[in-house]
Amino acid sequence: MTSIEQNIKQIKDRITIAAQRVGINPQDITLIAVTKTQSAESVNLALKAGIMDFGENKVQEAARKLEGVTVPYACFHFIGHLQTNKVKALLKLNPGLIHSVDSLHLAREISAESAKLNRTQAMLLQVNTSGEQSKYGIEPHQAIKLAEEITQLPNISIKGLMTIGRLSEEAEDSRQDFRLLKDLFDTLKKLQMPKLDMKWLSMGMTNDFEIAIEEGANLVRIGSAIFGARYYT
Ligand SMILES: *Cc1c(COP(=O)(O)O)cnc(C)c1O
Repeated sequence: MTSIEQNIKQIKDRITIAAQRVGINPQDITLIAVTKTQSAESVNLALKAGIMDFGENKVQEAARKLEGVTVPYACFHFIGHLQTNKVKALLKLNPGLIHSVDSLHLAREISAESAKLNRTQAMLLQVNTSGEQSKYGIEPHQAIKLAEEITQLPNISIKGLMTIGRLSEEAEDSRQDFRLLKDLFDTLKKLQMPKLDMKWLSMGMTNDFEIAIEEGANLVRIGSAIFGARYYT
């Protein structure tokens, strides 16, 4: 077994244990391997080891890498901050889900470019649940209004919410952020707006994914626990 294979197996076991702790079927949780800074070869290894979903946070890096990804996959996720002028290039890569929509302006561009491709783009609203200045995402109180506006757009569909837990030594500190996102998720779900299909709750990374699962996450985004520490060159 390669170390990537071993790491994936361990993460899956930890997901199962966390899910069982709160009475959730582990199969309802999707593991996204976050492959930023990793080579296409590493992505291929992860896909061969049973990963179906992977995520990137930069459009240009993803475009280059995807050319070398030869193993079939279910879904390429875009999880990073997205600039309007990169939308067209991103859509060419066929992202199954864009996790990071945080403005009407950006959503309009995604809808317009998707229309040209005759597609409907699935996306999540990114919410800044921790209130940290350094984080992207809308403020929680803006979510309902923005969801109402975005669902008016023709070629886009909202599939849920995403957040990044606060930066802290203590993973437990993220629990409040995840709980806030879950509450918001339930609130939006109850509104039953057309084209608002609250399916995915994307939260939890290497340091806090078990807590995210306990708080209701069904999409977890894990990088370093699978591939090791990232080296930025
Ligand atoms: C890098 C990144 C991750 C994965 O982080 P790890 O701590 O390596 O698991 C998850 N989500 C987003 C948005 C990221 O940018």
